Amino acid sequence: MGLWMPGAQMEAVLRHGEASYPHECCGLLLGHPAADARAPRRVVEAHAMRNANAASPRNRFDFDPKEHLAAQRQARERGLEVIGFYHSHPDHPARPSQYDLDHAAWPGYSYLIVSIMEGRAASGEAAARSFELAEDRSHFIQETVETSGVETESA
Ligand SMILES: [Zn+2]
Repeated sequence: MGLWMPGAQMEAVLRHGEASYPHECCGLLLGHPAADARAPRRVVEAHAMRNANAASPRNRFDFDPKEHLAAQRQARERGLEVIGFYHSHPDHPARPSQYDLDHAAWPGYSYLIVSIMEGRAASGEAAARSFELAEDRSHFIQETVETSGVETESA
């Protein structure tokens, strides 16, 4: 398994993380599920969401339930599905925290994490990693992230 993402969408996630610093940003990955066991999930759009966690937004995020439902509905109307979720780790590496594991509900989705250090996206491989939740939810499995500057989705 893995995640395929247009370069411009990855850029958008990194910029969202920078703009939200020192708070966590969060959003949905909209696109198409894996066609088969070897194919990657394909992102069409990274959909930015508001971090609705008022108590501890520097190291927690929550989706606003109404915004979440509206985004899911809009995605369906465009023939897209929610295939994953993204959030940022301000001044922490792009690796899931115990909190992330405790709050990740769904195997079969991508959990993309970006690292924003002192307000700037980390460079290279350290900037973004994606994970899949194991079926028994006991741990995350890192998956490959492929980005491309070429938009191959057809409308
Ligand atoms: Zn996290």
